[in-house]
Amino acid sequence: MDGIISKTNTSRVPLSALEMRLLHWHYANLEYANAVNVDQLSLGGWDQDQGNEFEGRHSEIKGGYSQVPRALFKYPQYMDVKLGKVVKEIHYNPDNGSNEPRASVQCEDGEKIEADYIVNTLPLGVLKEGLINFNPPLPKWKAEPIQRLGFGVLNKVSSLLNIETSKLNCKQVVLVFDRIFWDVRRDMFGILNQSVKTDSLNPKDYATDRGMFYLFWNCVKTSGAPVLVGVMAGDAARAAESMDDQVLVDMATDRLAKIFQLKARPVPTEAIVTRWRRDRFARGSYSYMGPESQPGDYEAMAARTGNMVWAGEGTCGTHPATVHGAFISGLRAASEVVQAMIGQIVPPVVQG
Ligand SMILES: Cc1cc2nc3c(=O)[nH]c(=O)nc-3n(C[C@H](O)[C@H](O)[C@H](O)COP(=O)(O)OP(=O)(O)OC[C@H]3O[C@@H](n4cnc5c(N)ncnc54)[C@H](O)[C@@H]3O)c2cc1C
Repeated sequence: MDGIISKTNTSRVPLSALEMRLLHWHYANLEYANAVNVDQLSLGGWDQDQGNEFEGRHSEIKGGYSQVPRALFKYPQYMDVKLGKVVKEIHYNPDNGSNEPRASVQCEDGEKIEADYIVNTLPLGVLKEGLINFNPPLPKWKAEPIQRLGFGVLNKVSSLLNIETSKLNCKQVVLVFDRIFWDVRRDMFGILNQSVKTDSLNPKDYATDRGMFYLFWNCVKTSGAPVLVGVMAGDAARAAESMDDQVLVDMATDRLAKIFQLKARPVPTEAIVTRWRRDRFARGSYSYMGPESQPGDYEAMAARTGNMVWAGEGTCGTHPATVHGAFISGLRAASEVVQAMIGQIVPPVVQG
């Protein structure tokens, strides 16, 4: 991508340094949306959800996204959700026509839970790293798309210490202040990052820094407190994974001081740096179509393996990488289980 712009810049459409900064802001935004650097995306398939995007304004959920699963397990009636249960092995019967023997999940604490059907919503990052033992092993048609689809890491690695830092991906810093110094009418605001060589016309000079706190979300309305979330993307997000928390906070608050023309960096009362790649229950942020991905990979991810049914954002080809994709896939998985247990559901026909 940077190569294409280099050519464009020297021939038909010369860009000024400011225009280059603006263009690279949009690159950073694309890298954020896909959770990976643009040069690691499938050229043909990167825009996997094209035509299915929801229209309308962006919105934030009051109290944060955890309100969604909380509401789902509390209403309309309280569900028995077991917290703190780490699954290490899943036994399933790959025969779609029979649910005998039953499926079971083996937890790290020794508890074994049996069921007629299980819905597997393990993140693609966890599946790619083989952190869960499947018995029998997953069939080739399921194992291959798991490896082909992207989740911010390209190689299978077996332990945290083996993860290559160059492929780590950190995304956000949550900053809590004691007062609001920004324009609360704006839900988000950004900054056009400078190139490594000031005002360079060479696109390569923008790649490393374009995504460093290029965007801030104003979370006052949803948190009820002076909270900003600073976003990192692309190379900057990967570099940030090995940086000290304080260095990142200083970089974020430096930019805030510039945007709002403050005399000094604003000092947060609290700062949280997220590192999703290191989280053993996530191993990344969300799925994307990488160079090896093939059309149909998401559909294969969604396909049932006997009495183990699959759900999660990485199984939703129409709305991948999103909460609504995960939710929609859950509805699909629930209907698969019901149909497997009681047969095809025929909608009632109203007689005219
Ligand atoms: C920084 C960031 C910003 C995002 N912003 C948005 C956004 O604005 N809008 C949007 O729609 N989406 C957004 N997403 C994406 C969205 O969060 C995901 O697509 C969605 O949460 C995926 O849901 P899921 O159920 O598939 O997986 P998850 O939410 O990851 O759920 C998988 C569950 O499996 C559990 N698990 C893993 N391993 C084990 C184990 N061994 N034993 C037991 N449990 C295990 C995990 O703890 C987790 O609870 C964002 C993601 C990130 C990281």
